[in-house]
Amino acid sequence: MDGKKLEYKGKEALKELEKSTLKVDEVQEGILKDILKKNGSTEYLNQFMKGSIDISTFKRLVPVITYSSIRPYIHRIANGEDSSLITSHPITEMLCSSGTSAGEPKLMPSIAEDLDRRTYLYNLIMPIMNQYVPGLDDGKAMYLYFTKVERSTPSGLPVRPVLTSYYKSKHFKCRPRDPFNYYTSPDQTILCTDSRQSMYCQLLAGLIHRNQVLRLGAVFASAFLRAINFLERNWVNFCNDIRSGHLDPSITDLGCRTAMSDLLKSPDPVLADEIESICRSKSWKGILGQLWPKAKYIEAVVTGSMAQYIPTLEFYGAGRLPLVCTMYASSECYLGVNLKPLCDPADVAYTILPNMGYFEFIPLGNNGSFLVDEEDEEVAKGKLVDLAHVRVGCYYEIVVTTFAGLYRYRIGDVLQVTGFYNKAPQFRFVCRRNVVLSIDTDKTSEGDLHKSITMAKKLLEPYEALLVEYTSCTDTSTIPGHYVLFWEIISHTNELTQLETHVLEDCCMAVEESLDYVYRRCRKLDRSVGPLEIRVVEPGTFESLMDLFISHGGSINQYKTPRCIKSTSALDLLNSRVCGSFFSPRDPIWVP
Ligand code: AMP
Repeated sequence: MDGKKLEYKGKEALKELEKSTLKVDEVQEGILKDILKKNGSTEYLNQFMKGSIDISTFKRLVPVITYSSIRPYIHRIANGEDSSLITSHPITEMLCSSGTSAGEPKLMPSIAEDLDRRTYLYNLIMPIMNQYVPGLDDGKAMYLYFTKVERSTPSGLPVRPVLTSYYKSKHFKCRPRDPFNYYTSPDQTILCTDSRQSMYCQLLAGLIHRNQVLRLGAVFASAFLRAINFLERNWVNFCNDIRSGHLDPSITDLGCRTAMSDLLKSPDPVLADEIESICRSKSWKGILGQLWPKAKYIEAVVTGSMAQYIPTLEFYGAGRLPLVCTMYASSECYLGVNLKPLCDPADVAYTILPNMGYFEFIPLGNNGSFLVDEEDEEVAKGKLVDLAHVRVGCYYEIVVTTFAGLYRYRIGDVLQVTGFYNKAPQFRFVCRRNVVLSIDTDKTSEGDLHKSITMAKKLLEPYEALLVEYTSCTDTSTIPGHYVLFWEIISHTNELTQLETHVLEDCCMAVEESLDYVYRRCRKLDRSVGPLEIRVVEPGTFESLMDLFISHGGSINQYKTPRCIKSTSALDLLNSRVCGSFFSPRDPIWVP
């Protein structure tokens, strides 16, 4: 099946979904056959397939890989070699995913027809929503979408995030003007790469249309909360602009100015007064329903690491606005949709669309334990399960094969099967393999954290102080959220409190400088992660932490200090022993 045939919209898209989920095995086999027929003679596949295009040869001989195995091919293509190293289709762009490898962002090959596949998935969302929420055609959506600056490979291929690629494509720009696509944000404001100006104009446009807005959202919950925070800081300016009919002079982007001048045609003091009286209220609990009185729901990813934002979103929505999580996607491949979008966020399950790519699954132990390490990939290959044959209740790591040149590639997500829609399995997103800390698109593993702390703790040595234990958490009570490290330090000469502030601030900096590219980009460029904090705890705190875990049934023999803490009681304990708190005084270095 070719991606170009996936040009369905509205009810047609639902029919196609119905059809493909009824014969998952057949559709998947067709996809794999097609991929092998087209790409079997690429340098990458041919080294294993040796001229065969048989499914059984593929299953027997093609290894399960992570990025490091495909990276050399991707780099050769980025440096000018032909796409046919990995795919028979011309690679049109490299998508930078939020994952990193050896400190750099991962580049994912993408071909023209991938945009058709992504558009097919987007086209499913509205018909699905219409089944549950009536009247969405009668108004607009205030969706805050952002475009990033792109660069290019030495061979001239664009390098950009998948969403930037989509917003710049004709699929988005020339989308049919039907109600699904009535956004409050003019396209020029979405396409503006200055995130402050883009945010300013999109929120202003949303306020101007406040009485027509039926849906609110952003791709990820973290971005939506940043917008609310921006609104808190800028509502006075928004009211001034609406009252005077003139756009704030800090907006200098020409596209934004032109688009906004159409919306700010004449002064509207009545609207400005309404917004002002709402924003002036002491508590912002339920502010979203007041500013956008006809809004029916908030759409954003609130599963996985984004679940940490649910309480704050509920505060601003005052429980009146359901949180709707519609899709599961990645730069490698768009994956699935939520067919029960009004369900509780904890019950969200994504139905994997069998025509997006070829999917296999590495079985994992209960609750996702016994994750397969890179060394165990030979073992993983022998155990892979097809999409149609996963079992309810079991945990798996997803593996994809795409037309664009990824073969048996581990995206890094752990999923649990919750049921089936027709014959297509539905999955709960459990976690990202090995990720312990994440605020926005950053993903920090236990190993990354350990490496950074090992670097930073050296700065204590000249003071004869020693880091004896550490753990971490994310603090999302601030917007943007930030990483918090709990450090227990012993010092032979100094009283802890005498360790000078600058030493611990330097430690915060050193940790941040050693964290990966995406973390530093989020901190410095996107401002979607706040300065890292070290909370120094009293001596003996980590022993009390161990006692706490053991009192909750943990085994003393097997106890290891958890490197990231989520339990409220453990966090309460740590926070009650804090004797000093220090933040990074400046941004880490980040070079595009
Ligand atoms: P990227 O490669 O930067 O596009 O990020 C894709 C990753 O984001 C996925 O592999 C998941 O780990 C995460 N992700 C995407 N959609 C969802 C979702 N609906 N729920 C939880 N995590 C998601």
